[in-house]
Amino acid sequence: MTENGNAEQLDVLVIGAGPGGYVAAIRAAQLGKQVAIVEKDTVGGVCLNRGCIPSKALISAAHQYEAMTQSAGIGLTAAEVSVDFAKVQAWKQSVIDKLTGGVSSLFKGNKIKRLQGEAKLVDANLVEVKNGAETTQYRFRHGILATGSRPVELKAFPFQGRILSSTEMLALAKLPESLLVIGGGYIGIELGQTFAKFGTKVTILEGSDAILPGFEKELSRLVARKLKKLGVEVQTEAVAKRAEQTDDQVIVTYAAKGEERQATAEYVLVTVGRRPNTEGLGLESLPVKLTERGFIQIDEQCRTSIPHLYAIGDLVEGPALAHKASYEGKIAAEVIAGKDSRLGDKKIPAVVFSDPEIASVGLTESEARERGHDVAIGKFPYAANGRALSLNVGEGFVKLVADKATGLVLGAQIIGPEASNLIGEVGLAMEKGHTLTDIAETIHAHPSLGEIIMEAAEGALGHGIHQLNK
Ligand SMILES: Cc1cc2nc3c(=O)[nH]c(=O)nc-3n(C[C@H](O)[C@H](O)[C@H](O)COP(=O)(O)OP(=O)(O)OC[C@H]3O[C@@H](n4cnc5c(N)ncnc54)[C@H](O)[C@@H]3O)c2cc1C
Repeated sequence: MTENGNAEQLDVLVIGAGPGGYVAAIRAAQLGKQVAIVEKDTVGGVCLNRGCIPSKALISAAHQYEAMTQSAGIGLTAAEVSVDFAKVQAWKQSVIDKLTGGVSSLFKGNKIKRLQGEAKLVDANLVEVKNGAETTQYRFRHGILATGSRPVELKAFPFQGRILSSTEMLALAKLPESLLVIGGGYIGIELGQTFAKFGTKVTILEGSDAILPGFEKELSRLVARKLKKLGVEVQTEAVAKRAEQTDDQVIVTYAAKGEERQATAEYVLVTVGRRPNTEGLGLESLPVKLTERGFIQIDEQCRTSIPHLYAIGDLVEGPALAHKASYEGKIAAEVIAGKDSRLGDKKIPAVVFSDPEIASVGLTESEARERGHDVAIGKFPYAANGRALSLNVGEGFVKLVADKATGLVLGAQIIGPEASNLIGEVGLAMEKGHTLTDIAETIHAHPSLGEIIMEAAEGALGHGIHQLNK
């Protein structure tokens, strides 16, 4: 153990190397700061190792499998298509390894000092990093807390044996025969649907009256329809009560429609939310304020109540999304480097990589009306887009929400293939204060899915070409 007095002095210390922490470290280094980053696990955080990337890899494998087996409608049939799930998992891991390897190289290239171990603040300028039996202390001038979040554990469903969090679910070595998902949020839907495509019998229990609460019903309805087609049983207004594990299955008792019911599955996946990793960091002894919901409180520049300590990502309020964490990481790094960067009123897109895919940014129609806008809506279906039909993906729509008087784009919801990529154009329009006319006057390549955004804008202006204007 290094003694307090001669602990190495660091300029910027980042705790946690997820999308918040690693981006903050790189940005601070770009701005000439000397940076050290502590990570107790693998770099890349939840997103790269057990979140965004592995889930999307499995989703795309399931999607390709579905395309191989379900393309008879366009004249393609394949015999003896099979899934080698161990190989799928190995490929998924290779994607993760490439990306985490990339982050490590960026650390080296940017001369960022990588400290392996678990960090705990001793005081507001001193941290101890525990790696196995060894504990080393470092003094630092500026600190960025980016320790992320972990799955919420339900008391009656502790993560053990056949009751899994998303982490274990993503790492299953074998495809399960059956799966019961508790929680119809985006993680539950993405994973439930993926395993259903691979042939697992899936049941989803959701407490509210529809899956994907938080998204408009006209979107979640299309996902519900696809789930039904895949043979997934969705129970809404269903509250999971208790579980009983046997050697090869779990029996779950839940309440729905005023009665107690039971469902049996090989595994239970609990995805009912995530909780910030504020414990064990040594914060208890420091005057760092938490919000009512237990997140670290920050100001417009990501500063906590201790001015030289910053917090970003899943540790702070707002949507628990990787791109939000990274954006906050850049702000914190820039502020430390003396820039006057602020979070501002940023529009954060949200995507569900369900089938069909959902993406949303800005205000929905009802939110815009609630805020007093006279609203112009442009809705255009994939079914009227040549590229969508040539891709054999004619389901879904784009709904653009704008202010009628000014034409300013206020938001969009997209459901359909590539929604995650299409939403970027609307985000840019909103960021730069563009109008429906700006989008309509932009030439979009033909045939492309992007034309759907242009046609939605034209529709809102009353001069759509490929659909009748009301
Ligand atoms: C299944 C799943 C799918 C997801 N899919 C998406 C998606 O498609 N798109 C999206 O935007 N978001 C997605 N997310 C959310 C996304 O992963 C998180 O929002 C993001 O990872 C948050 O980044 P972060 O930097 O705040 O924290 P994290 O990624 O949680 O990283 C925190 C890091 O800090 C380390 N750490 C914690 N405590 C200490 C300590 N004391 N000392 C040292 N190191 C420590 C941890 O080991 C971890 O590596 C998904 C999440 C899950 C679980």
